[in-house]
Amino acid sequence: MSEFAFDLAVIGGGSGGLAIAKRAAEHGARVALVEPAPLGGTCVNAGCVPKKVMWNAAHLHELMRDAPGYGFAPIQPEADWLKLKERRDAFIARLNGIYESNLVRKGVERFEARAAFDDAHTLRLDDGRHLRAKFIVIATGGRPMRPSMPGAELGITSDDFFRLRERPQRVLIAGSGYIAVELAGIFQAFGSQVTMVLRSERLLKGFDAMLGEALVREMRRAGVEFHFGTLPTACRAAADGSGALEMQTAAGPVIGPVDALLWAIGREPVTDGLALDRAGVATDAAGFVVTDEWQRTNVETIHAVGDVTGRPALTPVAIAAGRRLADRLFGGQPERRMDYTNIPTVVFSHPTIGTVGLTEAQARAQLEDVQVKTASFVPLYNAMTDHKPRTEMKLVLAGPRQQVVGCHVIGPGADEMLQGFAVAVRMGATFDDFNDTVAIHPTSAEELVTMR
Ligand code: FAD
Ligand code: NDP
Repeated sequence: MSEFAFDLAVIGGGSGGLAIAKRAAEHGARVALVEPAPLGGTCVNAGCVPKKVMWNAAHLHELMRDAPGYGFAPIQPEADWLKLKERRDAFIARLNGIYESNLVRKGVERFEARAAFDDAHTLRLDDGRHLRAKFIVIATGGRPMRPSMPGAELGITSDDFFRLRERPQRVLIAGSGYIAVELAGIFQAFGSQVTMVLRSERLLKGFDAMLGEALVREMRRAGVEFHFGTLPTACRAAADGSGALEMQTAAGPVIGPVDALLWAIGREPVTDGLALDRAGVATDAAGFVVTDEWQRTNVETIHAVGDVTGRPALTPVAIAAGRRLADRLFGGQPERRMDYTNIPTVVFSHPTIGTVGLTEAQARAQLEDVQVKTASFVPLYNAMTDHKPRTEMKLVLAGPRQQVVGCHVIGPGADEMLQGFAVAVRMGATFDDFNDTVAIHPTSAEELVTMR
């Protein structure tokens, strides 16, 4: 009889935690999963899934706007924000239930509690129970940050966005990353007046520069107002006494009044309350759990996956890391591990962005013989509509074979376009491979295989 009741205890029932728990159980491990909240974590409850529902609703608005171009009588959609929220919440509750029953079916024992370490093999739950396991995985994810400044608490975060029962008419968004542009697009499409405050001069700084520039152009065209290089210093009730808010900026100007202020300035790891010190687990300066390429912390039997590790904070990344770790620990696959290169990603902005591989700037800094091919066009769909967004594409090529090391697209459909191209980039496809692939016509995607 083992000294441990479980082979594996997982802290956190989000994308990463569920993935490793289920895969480990499939391999025959005795698995415990500790999660105090409804299963699914950020992605299901306050991230990808409810966000995509809202993106779909915003997209429907855009289709109705475009309909007269195709001969339909003008439609004036009356969106009922609360009704949509209630239907979305009901869908999420169904998903929570499905995750729960899947876990039970796989034989994972679920503990509805919050966990902290007692030592490297023991978890203490906040209901008084203790779990002992040979391996422990930390998958506690992240949460939205707020700046520290007077009045910061007057603003909401992405978590609060999903609790809004009515749509604010004037919205101020601070930030320049995924969440800032995605939620700006949703508010804007629903009819809110959106203003964005960015401390730097660029949107989506980590992405190829072409994408951020094109998105600013399209968002401006849709009516979003931008304040670049602007540092907020305080927030307060607006002087007009209406209950609205205003933002003081470092350079002097006051922005507002607005009905809601949203902080979208990044996320921080959730490690407080875990008592990591009792197990001796190290974190970095920003609080992320330090892991090596095998997801191993500095303690041999404790691993971490997902957002808490500071690696790309994406659901499929957390899932892949979790599954591969389970395959390695319990599935007899000693070399199995997550490859963090060439991770494709989509920004559900309006229009969408799809990207994989190196940006042009990264390729020029790291590789030889870098060349860039681009395409810029108004999609055929928009030939018939008043609204004429431009699609921009860029292939980054490098080396003597002209291997495609980066593929970047902004435009309608980019979200669905990129997955297949990510396979090609991962396999090392060259520009000739792209051009030898027969195009699918008429599509926007065909432009990626017909560049010259
Ligand atoms: P999480 O999903 O955050 O799960 C962590 C879990 O740990 C939580 O359920 C929490 O309750 C639990 N926990 C914390 N502390 C304890 C404790 N002490 N004991 C027990 N349990 C604990 N990614 C995409 O790929 N595509 C998208 O479109 C996308 N959209 C997003 C939109 C928004 C608004 C946000 C915020 C994120 C989005 N993401 C998206 C990112 C994605 O949600 C995360 O990368 C993913 O959820 C990370 O999974 P995780 O398992 O690391 O953590
Ligand atoms: P991001 O890291 O994407 O962007 C946050 C941005 O805010 C930074 O790029 C930074 O830009 C700016 N910023 C940071 N601190 C401050 C500050 N104090 N004041 C003003 N601006 C600041 O974070 P998000 O919160 O948007 O999203 C978190 C993560 O969640 C993402 O990185 C992504 O991995 C994931 N996510 C994925 C989605 C998807 O897959 N579609 C959707 C939503 C989230 P700068 O340095 O230029 O000032």
